[in-house]
Amino acid sequence: MENIIELNKDGSLIVPDTPVIPYIPGDGTGPDIWNATRLVLDKAVKTAYKGDKRILFKEIPAGEDSFKKTGEWLPKKTLEQIQKYKVAIKGPLTTPVGHGMRSLNVAIRQELDLFACIRPAKYIQGVPSPCSKPEDIDMIIFRENTEDIYLGIEWEAGTKEAKEVLNFINKKTSKNLDETTTGIGIKPISEQYTKRLISKAIQYAIDNDRENVTIMHKGNIMKYTEGAFLKWGYEVGKDEFKDSIITEQALWDLFDGNVPEGKIVLKDRIADSIFQQVLLRPAEYDVLATTNLNGDYISDACAAQVGGLGLAPGANMSDEVALFEATHGTAPKYAGQNKVNPGSVILSGVMMFEHLGWQNVADMIVEALQRTITQKTVTYDLERQMEGATKVSTSGFADAIINNL
Ligand code: NAP
Repeated sequence: MENIIELNKDGSLIVPDTPVIPYIPGDGTGPDIWNATRLVLDKAVKTAYKGDKRILFKEIPAGEDSFKKTGEWLPKKTLEQIQKYKVAIKGPLTTPVGHGMRSLNVAIRQELDLFACIRPAKYIQGVPSPCSKPEDIDMIIFRENTEDIYLGIEWEAGTKEAKEVLNFINKKTSKNLDETTTGIGIKPISEQYTKRLISKAIQYAIDNDRENVTIMHKGNIMKYTEGAFLKWGYEVGKDEFKDSIITEQALWDLFDGNVPEGKIVLKDRIADSIFQQVLLRPAEYDVLATTNLNGDYISDACAAQVGGLGLAPGANMSDEVALFEATHGTAPKYAGQNKVNPGSVILSGVMMFEHLGWQNVADMIVEALQRTITQKTVTYDLERQMEGATKVSTSGFADAIINNL
């Protein structure tokens, strides 16, 4: 078992010098960006450790390629391998249409109970941004990954099930919903799943010396789902992190807004408000914790502030398993063109190295990426926003980063 990452009792990782890390290349543009990423990751490890450490990448099947070869979109063995090796990385996967599966990505997250989707939005020097002070942007979003509308409980208008649910609603409320023309979706939010997500977000803030955690919600309208998420979030702060947390309310009531030494501020913002806050006052937000759908929206919006989806990394985590992946999809119109930005998967690799404790490799890649962008050698998505930049292909961008390592 010498190449397998193990866990200590406290959940920390025991990482061998040559860990096996499974990867899924992905569909559409996935293989292009994965192949480019792999070259960068391997070269960075080699440069940092001179051969003493190495990742043993191991391909595991999922998506279109897997379906063509095995008849299965998401083989059970693939999930078992991710579970076994505890850390994996993937490219984006197509959502199969008409195969009974809502989304492969959602299926992987739910099957492995990867309950926290973690997406940083941090400005890299030289990246074009629509914001006036992009250097103030250094946020990390914790998105609940297993419930909310992503559970896929919905019924089409006119079906027997939709009619039954609508009939129930009409009987129990003063509403008079049309039972034949109305579609229905259900949004479950539970105390236990909310609390484990918010606990992880606060623990991250503590471990990484962040100043505040903001619960993003739409509790003013959806009181028993989003509103409950907010209430349970504050309960976690009070019950599990009493010594580390101060609420924004207490901060102003008792300390005139001056944060006491060693305290992290726990605050909340309504979803619509946070969208303008992250644009206008990003320096006031460190860690955001939110529900599944809110997290999907806000993470793309924050990504747009720091270079767009081509530079938007992410991780899906439980307390044991971590699966790193770009925030974006397969961008099918660019498939096989060696065109799109591999930065999103490269930065997901950076998150992976941070998770492994190989911080020097992570730092080295970020520096090389930053240097490459400052030299204005970029893929099409950044080039179209920059004056006088040189447009390079996916592999060309990886080569330029490698030259800067
Ligand atoms: P998308 O693949 O995210 O692409 C939307 C647009 O984002 C692209 O047209 C492109 O913008 C930009 N973009 C995405 N990746 C980029 C990159 N690496 N470099 C530069 N620009 C990039 O969204 P979609 O077209 O709606 O979804 C396509 C498929 O992906 C669907 O089957 C969807 O279900 C799936 N999906 C998978 C995941 C996942 O695997 N985690 C996530 C989301 C969606 P421009 O057109 O402006 O160049």
